[in-house]
Amino acid sequence: MTASLTDTRSGELYRRALEVIPGGVNSPVRAMRAIGRDPIFIARADGAELVDVDGNRFVDYVCSWGPLILGHAHPHVLQAITSAAERGTSFGAPTSGEVELALEVARRMDAVEALRMTSSGTEATMTAIRLARAATGRTRVLKFAGAYHGHVDALLAQAGSGLATQALPSSPGVPAATAAETVVVAWNDAEALVAATERHGLAAIIAEPLPANMGLVAPAAGFLELLRERADAVGALLVLDEVISGFRVARGGAQELTGVRADLTILGKVIGGGLPAAALGGRAELMHMLAPAGEVYQAGTLSGNPLAVAAGLATLELLDEPAYLRLASITDQLAAGLSEAARSYPVQVASLPGLITVFFSESPVRCLEDAQACDLEAHARWCRELLSRGVYPPPSQFEAWFPSLAHTPEQIERTLAAAAAAFACLERAGASR
Ligand SMILES: *Cc1c(COP(=O)(O)O)cnc(C)c1O
Repeated sequence: MTASLTDTRSGELYRRALEVIPGGVNSPVRAMRAIGRDPIFIARADGAELVDVDGNRFVDYVCSWGPLILGHAHPHVLQAITSAAERGTSFGAPTSGEVELALEVARRMDAVEALRMTSSGTEATMTAIRLARAATGRTRVLKFAGAYHGHVDALLAQAGSGLATQALPSSPGVPAATAAETVVVAWNDAEALVAATERHGLAAIIAEPLPANMGLVAPAAGFLELLRERADAVGALLVLDEVISGFRVARGGAQELTGVRADLTILGKVIGGGLPAAALGGRAELMHMLAPAGEVYQAGTLSGNPLAVAAGLATLELLDEPAYLRLASITDQLAAGLSEAARSYPVQVASLPGLITVFFSESPVRCLEDAQACDLEAHARWCRELLSRGVYPPPSQFEAWFPSLAHTPEQIERTLAAAAAAFACLERAGASR
């Protein structure tokens, strides 16, 4: 039975947190409400394992929701952060690391000729939208249902991630006038996309090229190419949000994998190596519209923070071609093993290098509506059973697992054994119903 609130240190901390922090957490996806339990407070982590404040160990598949592609507390990253910190934590003046990082990103991504750093993906998205509006003289933006681009007012409509988890269509507090500037189209719906681009004068089409915030839902064949084609046809910018896919699915992100090139690219998560950093990159003539080169205003006290830049650079240093091959093989083993562990239980295992979602669905998931039709209760139960067996999955059907380079064969084996046992519990519960 579930322990009462004060039986554990996590429970006690959560009780205190609820009094002073809304919902007890500083970001909604941490709350674990969707899987019907209280959050787990973490004490420390190393490699692919978390240790909670009660001393329980978990194989971690959240990995800070994406940044920790090398795993927790990687010595190379810690060393880079420590030596950066010894030189001072922030100057509000430029440093060499920022130049190195911008050059490294430009080497990896053809679409990035210039780069502006921010502290979060949300800020990078805000900047992308402002820039697209300035460049086109239009205001309307097209986004896809189930995509998450940070908590930007205009883009919360039918957003994925925490909003999908809480079944929120948007958020109170977003002005109607702002929401009216957003056109939402179902992912993988080519007809609706063409119609919407014909009807509205668009500043931008914004998309996660490999959406992972409604669970992982790959584009249908030709769909990304259609985005590029429609943006060009109507004079809108194509903004690809690679906050998750960038430096994860391939050395040059989704754009390398798919060959579709953006005008503006949003980066985050891996680029900060576990510290707060994100960026907007793109075509030089667009990027140089940003102040002080141009008139489109954008700024940040801690943008390009030396510690975050050091962590990002140290992370990218270890992400060479062999690393990506290894991540793909770790992901394949895990994905194939999860399919096998399910046996006859009806799930769809979607995967791309470094990303997996187990959809509790009898048919393939192609859009948000399909994801919402999943058996959320069974998924929640499965997650609880995994946690009780030392495996920490993202506590929502509308998220991806983040396997990392730190996950060992032994940890994967343990994960698959736990997954099989968790599926068996569902089978038994189903049989006794
Ligand atoms: C996480 C995420 C963001 C927002 O980044 P923050 O740093 O949390 O503001 C934007 N886009 C995508 C695709 C994301 O997954």
